[in-house]
Amino acid sequence: MPQGPRHGQGAGDAIRLEPLGKYAQNGMSTAGAGESQSGGLHNKRGLYSHGDGNSVGIVGSVAVCSQKRALAIATVVFASLFTISLIIAYAGPQNECPCIANEGNGSLQGAGPSTTTPTTPTGEPCPWSNLRLPHTLHPIRYNITIHPNLTTLHVKGQVTIEFAVDEDTNFIVFHAKNLTITDKSMLDGHGRQMNITRFLECPSLQQVYVEVEEAEGAHLTPDTPEDQQGSGGDGSGGKSTTNGAEGTTKKKANSKKRKKGSKNHTDESSKKVTSTPPPSTTGDKKRQPLRRTGGVYVLALRYSYRLSRELEGFYLSSYVDGSGEKRFLATTHFEPTYARSAFPCLDEPHLKAKFKLSVFRDRFHIALANMPVEATEDAGFYMGTGLLRDDFQESVKMSTYLVAWVVCDYKSVSKQTARGISVSVYAPQHHLHRADFALSLAANLTAYFEEFFGLPYPLPKQDLIAIPDFSAGAMENWGLITYRETSILYDPNETSSAAHQWVAIVVAHELAHQWFGNLVTMRWWNDLWLNEGFASFAESVGVSWACPDWGVADQFVVDKTQPALRLDALPSSHPISVGGREDGNGDGDDGVKDPSQIEAIFDTISYSKGAAILRMMEDFVGEETLRAGLSHYLHTYAFGNADTDDLWTSLSLSANHTINVKAIMDTWTRQMGYPLVTITREGRRKFRATQKRFLLSPNSPNTPSYPFTSSSANFSTITMTIAHTTPTPHEVINSPFGYKWYIPLTFHTDLDPGAPNLVWMNMTGVSIKVPVPGMPEEEEEVVTEGATTTVPSEEEDKHEVKWLKANVDQQGFYRVMYEPQELWDSLVNAILKDHTSFAPADRASVLDDAFTLCRAGLVNATLPLRLSMYLMKERDLVPWSTALEHLQSWSRRLSAAAPYRLFCRFVRTLLAPTAQALGWEDKGLHITRLVRSEVLTSAVLAGVETAVEEAKQRFKAWMDRGQRVPPNLREAVYAAGIKYGGYKEWLYCWNRYNTTTVPSEQKLLLRAMGMASDPWILQRYLLATLDRDRVKPQDVKGALGVVAAASPEGQFLAWRHLRAHWNQLRDLFGGEEEGVDVFEEGTSADGVPLAGTPMPRQQTLLPTSPHPPPAAPFALGGLVSTVVSNFATEYDYREVSLFFEGMDLGGGRRSVEQSLETIRLNAQWVARSEEDILNWLEEHFDSSDRSRGR
Ligand SMILES: [Zn+2]
Repeated sequence: MPQGPRHGQGAGDAIRLEPLGKYAQNGMSTAGAGESQSGGLHNKRGLYSHGDGNSVGIVGSVAVCSQKRALAIATVVFASLFTISLIIAYAGPQNECPCIANEGNGSLQGAGPSTTTPTTPTGEPCPWSNLRLPHTLHPIRYNITIHPNLTTLHVKGQVTIEFAVDEDTNFIVFHAKNLTITDKSMLDGHGRQMNITRFLECPSLQQVYVEVEEAEGAHLTPDTPEDQQGSGGDGSGGKSTTNGAEGTTKKKANSKKRKKGSKNHTDESSKKVTSTPPPSTTGDKKRQPLRRTGGVYVLALRYSYRLSRELEGFYLSSYVDGSGEKRFLATTHFEPTYARSAFPCLDEPHLKAKFKLSVFRDRFHIALANMPVEATEDAGFYMGTGLLRDDFQESVKMSTYLVAWVVCDYKSVSKQTARGISVSVYAPQHHLHRADFALSLAANLTAYFEEFFGLPYPLPKQDLIAIPDFSAGAMENWGLITYRETSILYDPNETSSAAHQWVAIVVAHELAHQWFGNLVTMRWWNDLWLNEGFASFAESVGVSWACPDWGVADQFVVDKTQPALRLDALPSSHPISVGGREDGNGDGDDGVKDPSQIEAIFDTISYSKGAAILRMMEDFVGEETLRAGLSHYLHTYAFGNADTDDLWTSLSLSANHTINVKAIMDTWTRQMGYPLVTITREGRRKFRATQKRFLLSPNSPNTPSYPFTSSSANFSTITMTIAHTTPTPHEVINSPFGYKWYIPLTFHTDLDPGAPNLVWMNMTGVSIKVPVPGMPEEEEEVVTEGATTTVPSEEEDKHEVKWLKANVDQQGFYRVMYEPQELWDSLVNAILKDHTSFAPADRASVLDDAFTLCRAGLVNATLPLRLSMYLMKERDLVPWSTALEHLQSWSRRLSAAAPYRLFCRFVRTLLAPTAQALGWEDKGLHITRLVRSEVLTSAVLAGVETAVEEAKQRFKAWMDRGQRVPPNLREAVYAAGIKYGGYKEWLYCWNRYNTTTVPSEQKLLLRAMGMASDPWILQRYLLATLDRDRVKPQDVKGALGVVAAASPEGQFLAWRHLRAHWNQLRDLFGGEEEGVDVFEEGTSADGVPLAGTPMPRQQTLLPTSPHPPPAAPFALGGLVSTVVSNFATEYDYREVSLFFEGMDLGGGRRSVEQSLETIRLNAQWVARSEEDILNWLEEHFDSSDRSRGR
């Protein structure tokens, strides 16, 4: 390592302050350029040195001494604070402002690609005006010390950032958000103090700009050969003059891996265009003080902030223990851009570094971090309490967003893997017995993924921890994975099969991230799908291995493919790999720079479409090739970063270049949407397949535009202007491929129903000659367009294809249309005749296409209606889930239309036989229990009489006599009790909700209570959701969604509530983005969170439904979608658009736009289909119901 910055420190001490508060008397030099440098040098060295025991804390410090001395210190503290305030007050505009204060009015939203120049709080233009950091340097190591006070919520911290320079410069830029920086200091590669000449905060960029000049005489020292090691590499392999640096170098033998990482970094730097540094205000003639050959520099900062109440950064959470006492904990959530609100850092995923963390805590707490505790020291006596400091081992090289720590009073259970990795689950004492399932699964899956990916898990331990308040489902922090309680706790007596599976899925998802995301990270957020698409794909692989009889792989189509197809059919979708290479600055980040833009891509597209196209790829490259390619990719970029092309290169390599993976997959990742393949008959065995982009509304332009017109729903007078702050990526993207795809078209026919055939549609159409088993091979040849192969004479051919089903098992990410209508009819007839001749996923695929093509106006409503008749014989989960999703959407959209009552009756008729067959005994295979729960709940909500009666009786027995309800039946039973009961039943649930300590039960009850029929009850319920002590903000969206879904009346009440309490709701959600990552509540048939009657799969009463697609990017926007997106009249469209007109919605804008687009589609669909549906139902289903239907 190059010369380290340590002077006069004891052995083993890095540059961090130790302990916090042992500051030298004059360490508080916050003044800027004008301050005495000689004093600064001396004092700051003292400031960051070990101290001799006589130094006492001053600035915001924890005095580590007796109470008597504490008093004396307090005096000094106040005196110092006064001094600081004077300095701040009188500091001129050229001086730094030590306070990274509040950002001001929505400046963040305005910080995107806007043309206004970002300024400092004093109005000075920010010298660095780019949201991306300069490429002149990279961090090597962070030493972070954190002392949170869980009572006062005050957090004190200090950080030293060791960095190497890649290009000579005189300034650095780092991220900080809402931090008050109280001290700063910079040392050069020889440990000499550098002069900080400017220190400017730039709140709108969440950045701090620091300009330096070298100390007197420093430039006279020639650069030594050792110095030069500092450039390019991470520097820790070099020589250091300090014990501290050597101490940390010894600890981690990562040199081999480091090499890759640093090489990667160099590659990356060379790719990028380095921005021109702004002109220096100090000594332009001098050589640049930060030099490529200058060794390891150190920036040291002390800072303070308040623990956040939002669920991001370093924040406060609490739980009620077994004895009813409220207990507090503090935890972190940094992805994607919140690390900067917990410690100053270079907060970009490719700027990987090692992290060494120390955390102060009370004796009755524990502290956890990415790495194990290395040493715990008594930090002395403070305010009557003994404090301890945990020093954690230095981490491997990783991204800032993966850093994590927790201070809590939890207990744990542990297990070792065969390789000796310690796996633990941490939870409150009273939940600990619910941690066993996650523990053994995590231990097993860690070993499995090591083998599957061909790379060992690189940390010594893996902790999984349950966090009571958590915006996402879980977060993959390396070595310390945080989970929402319902994503990790499993109680065999209380948890349903669906919730059980959910725990398994989330545990597997986060473990897969330890490789995909943590070990190899996307270079920039535009390739987020590399993290999330993979984890979403691998979760199914992992759970299928761990729980082989659960049928998780079969459920993939309803959990991943179909939701992604729904969202991606809107013109406002976006490509998987957002932006890319066209913005000219080489960052590959065009359009995704601003934190709100980054958050916006944590959506169904990145997660589910990413997973779905990987599954499609697995299908055509083969499982072994896929695995080998992934392993190659992980090995090549371990501890570094990669982009989408790097993955395709690895996969092409593993396929021996027999498949041009990049050419094929670029058409799926670099353009939004997906193809509709239309199959037309050309002969007895001859077909033609053509492709074009599928849009729910075929006439939509790429950008949603209002007003719109429709023949029967003329909304053309409506204009709508929602305040735009930053253009979102989808608005500026046109397809580089003209919306054509390389499609692996699979099909089977009645001639050979068991055997799928594959033909490639190479960005064009294709002719298909259906093979006949037993016929000579040459005649079987599939003839692609432009090929010269001759087709056998049709007249000779006595074989005729009756039906052809394309996209076998919905493995491909496309939809299929059949022409002429007879082709559709024969396929539907085949399913009606014997549905078991098609696999469950294949039946689901036909249902999903038929309903969706009807929604897009491409087939008549009578087609899905006729097809649905077979459901009376259907007993499988996957087709039922698919069908219920669509039937319930229809029901909600039709709620104000003529066929509504008749349609509800139709749904009851379809459900009744299956509900009857599945029965009320909670038995059978996992997947049987799942379908029983889903069908019975739907039957109850739809009003199937026998089901309602049974469920009501069970509710009564539970309420009156405490008779236990099996977890898988609770959803249906609670729903019946609430929907068909009164206030007494509701109050019983409310009391249970407030007293149960089982998170899954609490969630189940909360959702059930939203299904009341009495408007007065619903009002009380909605008001209760505004009180964060009664309903956690993370649950509010789900609660409103249930009300809006449960009945047409509920929908109006929810919409009224949203408008009436808009400001409160805004406050509840922090007024800005929240809720990133993985799994949240459901997404609707239109890619927007859902509402409706009866409950669709994603909105059923599951504690957390088993595979809800990912969160809507912004909680507030998602909330709007949840409430309004099932409206289906012009009037409602007008109401919604008027309410939001001119409103600054920040990152929630896209959700609102999608909701409006959805309402418009709903209205058009109703206008188009209403008559057909009514006629068909009257004619085919039950003509005796004619009068009631009207
Ligand atoms: Zn994830």
